[in-house]
Amino acid sequence: MAKIIEKINWLISLISWNLKNWRRNRILERESISDSIWQKVLKQFKFLHVLTHEEKIRLRQFVILFLHDKQIVGAHDMEITEEMRITIAVQACILILELDVAHYDDWVEIIVYPGKFILDYDYADEFGVVHHAHKVVSGEAWLAGPVILSWLDAAGFDSRPSDNVVIHEFAHKLDMRHQGANGFPILHANMNAQIWCDIFSKAYAGFCARVNKGKENTIDSYASKSPAEFFAVFSEVFFETPLVVKQDFPAIYEQLVLFYRQDPAGRWGKSKLKN
Ligand SMILES: [Zn+2]
Repeated sequence: MAKIIEKINWLISLISWNLKNWRRNRILERESISDSIWQKVLKQFKFLHVLTHEEKIRLRQFVILFLHDKQIVGAHDMEITEEMRITIAVQACILILELDVAHYDDWVEIIVYPGKFILDYDYADEFGVVHHAHKVVSGEAWLAGPVILSWLDAAGFDSRPSDNVVIHEFAHKLDMRHQGANGFPILHANMNAQIWCDIFSKAYAGFCARVNKGKENTIDSYASKSPAEFFAVFSEVFFETPLVVKQDFPAIYEQLVLFYRQDPAGRWGKSKLKN
């Protein structure tokens, strides 16, 4: 009996895998993005310059699939152009380049504000006490809900070299797939949860201690706000300026390589050898 159930489950997963591929191929056959906009957007982000030809092809396919499934809407009647859609999608898809677009399947909407926006809401803490939050932010990701972005920041007009609000918010989205945002995303079969927790807890404690003593960190001190922010900020730096993470936090770098299945610092090394 167990063997029959195993075989049925195998058949179901094979059929759903084939259906998923059939649907994706149909979307890729019918939809495309303009070459000129694609090249313009690629030029804008240094971390995309070092991708191989094959990686750029896959990224472009992921961007098409991503844009097919997501609704990107402007707040305050802001018009969202094709270039803006691709600018956001390309940064969101770099995180899942070696994973799968299905990692963003559990939600649909991206709301874009022209610039930074105000969040004004009540929330209950772990003890049930209700607090009021009022803050100016460049991005926000809601559990099973939308990602909200400031266009000025998402386009990179208003940020430092290692900052990337799109990567930050989409890292939260990946993190949220496992028990909410807590810096402990769903790990792959070849990863060890205990090792992840040990390495991240130790690095987070050390990072917070430095911030509390007022010492300089090579990475934005906002990472000390919570383990979830630590994971999101380190994901930004991992893609934008990976050598900083590799040199100053090698154990974290190794875990992020395993999680994202990418080695961004290695890409920079290879591209230097080519030039
Ligand atoms: Zn955050």
